Amino acid sequence: MKRRKFLTQSAATAAAGAALPAAAAQSATLPPAAAKAAPGVAPLPLPAKATAAAYANKRSGYSPFTVPDYYSYSDDLKIERPVPGKPHQGKVFAAVQAHSDDIPLYAGGLVAKLIDEGYTGYLIRISNDEAAGKTLGYGVVQNEIDNIEVGKALGCKKSFSFYYRNHRMDDCAEIEIRARLIFLFRVLQVDTLITMDPYNHYEENPDHLVAGRAAEAACWLSGAGKDYPEHYRAGLKPARVREKYYHARSPNGHNLVNRIVDIGPYIDTKVKGNVANKGKGPAGESGSRLRAELAKQGKRLPILGGNDESANHQYVKHFLMEDWRLLGQRFGLQYAEAFRYIGPEPGYTEQIRKYVDANAVTL
Ligand SMILES: [Zn+2]
Repeated sequence: MKRRKFLTQSAATAAAGAALPAAAAQSATLPPAAAKAAPGVAPLPLPAKATAAAYANKRSGYSPFTVPDYYSYSDDLKIERPVPGKPHQGKVFAAVQAHSDDIPLYAGGLVAKLIDEGYTGYLIRISNDEAAGKTLGYGVVQNEIDNIEVGKALGCKKSFSFYYRNHRMDDCAEIEIRARLIFLFRVLQVDTLITMDPYNHYEENPDHLVAGRAAEAACWLSGAGKDYPEHYRAGLKPARVREKYYHARSPNGHNLVNRIVDIGPYIDTKVKGNVANKGKGPAGESGSRLRAELAKQGKRLPILGGNDESANHQYVKHFLMEDWRLLGQRFGLQYAEAFRYIGPEPGYTEQIRKYVDANAVTL
């Protein structure tokens, strides 16, 4: 990653593009997608009768790991705002990530929000992150520490790691990863899953797709009575995972979004989760390194503040969180994260019973 490259880009480019009105969150009627500017390519109005099917995301250019190129919004798009009074007390979520920086970057605000609203949260990392360190061994050790510290910073009760080899997870037995997740979901009695969209288009990292698919299938099978019956002989109960939040990752991707989460009040917690991730990714101690680099040149950047702790925090907040601020701006929010949300299925037998009760006649 070349930090200097994105530091030199102008923030002014981020301000381009039309804003979605806040009311759009409740409506199917959206303005035309903002055209992406490129040298020698002029934006054009869409041809007659053509309707935009994807919206180009605004990018600050400050982070290599950010919102994808395009979102498509569903016509039942909703904004999930902070709710007081611990409405989720007693519920449990599992935040499953391939690597130690996935959840803090893409869903750290949601994790902090749900915990503040009463959820008990668990962070589960599938890989060993060996490819992100000074050496392979260093990467394993540092990212093991980071996964624990990220969980603490975001407010999770415990962090787990499965240690599959980094960038090689498409060579793993997916069924084994799934079985381990089913075991944990049953032990922890998980109600809600937060993970990478298993259908990320244009995803270059094989680990993300493997982790997403294994977690998705584990949700359904965790509630099944005949899969892994030895768990039940050992005293475990089925887990009913009724809610899922899938986040995008692929920078060049195109994802379906039906839930915008207002993470404004949780942005500093999200920042802390990313600062805790020191072994990999664009956050960690990048701010203090930049501060030291500038000091050698007899310079300072005022937004970084007067010490290393402040520099690390403000660097992440001002640069790496900028694209989530731009996303929030489209919906009239300070900061936002976007998800494909899947809610509880209605009880079909109750629906049939209601119909029967209303329509049955005497023989
Ligand atoms: Zn990752």
